[in-house]
Amino acid sequence: MKIKKNDTVLVIVGKDKGKKGKVRFAYPKDDRLIVEGVNFIKRHMRARGPARQAGIIEREAPIHVSNVMMLCSKCNRPARLGFRFLGGKKVRICRACQEVID
Ligand SMILES: [Zn+2]
Repeated sequence: MKIKKNDTVLVIVGKDKGKKGKVRFAYPKDDRLIVEGVNFIKRHMRARGPARQAGIIEREAPIHVSNVMMLCSKCNRPARLGFRFLGGKKVRICRACQEVID
């Protein structure tokens, strides 16, 4: 997966289209991400003892990596990513401005 934790991404499809956010968690196995402020779902919680009240909580649900684009920190554009080897290390590059992102 090309997108990692702490990257800033732009949502390109769905109800949160156009929103930007920071990746809080990445699940490379599932190609999914949790993005700050994106894809809130409502969960109904049952009361469990006096310490926890019943109610509805909202939290972010993972979204598929194909629903977002990386926002390049160098050119501030939604960018497709490529890879390049720099000194034997694989780094990500922005295909729009050709800058190294990592
Ligand atoms: Zn760029």
